[in-house]
Amino acid sequence: MAEKIIMMAEQRGNAPAIPAILEAPTGLLSDRLARPLHDLRISVTDRCNFRCVYCMPKAVFDSDYQYLPHTSLLSFEEITRLAKIFIAHGVEKIRLTGGEPLLRKNLERLIAMLAELKTIHGKPLDLTLTTNASLLARKAQSLKDAGLQRVTVSLDALDNATFQRMNDVDFSVDDVLKGIDMARQVGLGPIKINMVVKGGMNDDQILPMARHFRNTPYILRFIEYMDVGASNGWKMDEVIPSAEVVRRIHAEMPLAPVAANYAGETAARWRYVGNDGDGGGEIGLISSVTQAFCADCSRARLSTEGKLYTCLFATSGHDLRALLRNGRADEEISTVLAHLWRAREDRYSELRTNNTDGLPRSANKVEMSYIGG
Ligand code: SAM
Ligand code: SF4
Ligand code: SF4
Repeated sequence: MAEKIIMMAEQRGNAPAIPAILEAPTGLLSDRLARPLHDLRISVTDRCNFRCVYCMPKAVFDSDYQYLPHTSLLSFEEITRLAKIFIAHGVEKIRLTGGEPLLRKNLERLIAMLAELKTIHGKPLDLTLTTNASLLARKAQSLKDAGLQRVTVSLDALDNATFQRMNDVDFSVDDVLKGIDMARQVGLGPIKINMVVKGGMNDDQILPMARHFRNTPYILRFIEYMDVGASNGWKMDEVIPSAEVVRRIHAEMPLAPVAANYAGETAARWRYVGNDGDGGGEIGLISSVTQAFCADCSRARLSTEGKLYTCLFATSGHDLRALLRNGRADEEISTVLAHLWRAREDRYSELRTNNTDGLPRSANKVEMSYIGG
């Protein structure tokens, strides 16, 4: 059975050793492939109220699935302490994720704590969150008041039946759209909308989604279905390459490429080109399967229980929570982080792109809902 091959989160990772010589952070960390540390994704819960077929399929994430107990989760104080250490090493952007981050009780309190932090250049953090929007209409105002700057919302279809087949819990498109609208009204923008495209399941929704979000303030991004985790039964022939998404949209609504905003931007940008000069905004394509962007990957991930993952496709993490709870000083944890980042050489997607029949399929790859997307 599929459950048997999924390691429980608690069994993964090891507490890193403290280097003999401690060092002060410089904000200029660079890994073995000369990549800086700029982004931090923090998973605040491994639970979710959706069962998206590509992420938490019901057959695996059923009533027997063992989620982390509350005592295993990093507390808000622990998260904030680690965030400060990451920021001292150059992190400028923090994204809260999960599981479904809005399920974490009192999340607004964490947001308020993080919103007070400044980058090493004295600027406010770019503080954002990815959500399935099930609780967004209710929470948008309090998230904004707490200091959240913007949100990214996942929505895989406009057709209700298709969307419900994807989320597998009968959540309706209308309720997601209400959440998005409320987020816009309270000023949580610019809002990005993420659509994972799974061939044969929702690829007929590419055009309806493009039509719907064209000429709106929202930026629609198409994400290639990834072989993350060990439970979604990923197959290459279910991936719709981004080039095909662009081809289909371009045939009806002409597109032109746009230069990246900054190095390391995950989405390739295209804008609509209309006869009137303003074609109606832009879209993004996240092509982690067919055009890997490992060369610019500046992202670290902190799991729900405080393990550092240097790649979405890692099989184990580094237990920073053990350091926190063993009474280690900030300088010690900061030095550990410097060593781990300098040793980083992950580039899973690049290797897979060159070998789409699949890298050796590891049953140990960590689940997206645990590590945070
Ligand atoms: N629950 C929140 C949500 O869905 O927005 C946040 C966590 S979710 C893991 C983060 C993002 O990962 C979502 O946009 C989701 O669609 C995406 N995702 C999950 N599994 C994926 C997969 N196998 N391939 C591509 N994207 C995936
Ligand atoms: Fe939940 Fe997000 Fe995964 Fe869907 S993609 S199951 S909403 S964590
Ligand atoms: Fe970054 Fe790993 Fe994804 Fe490559 S595969 S972009 S290194 S997270």
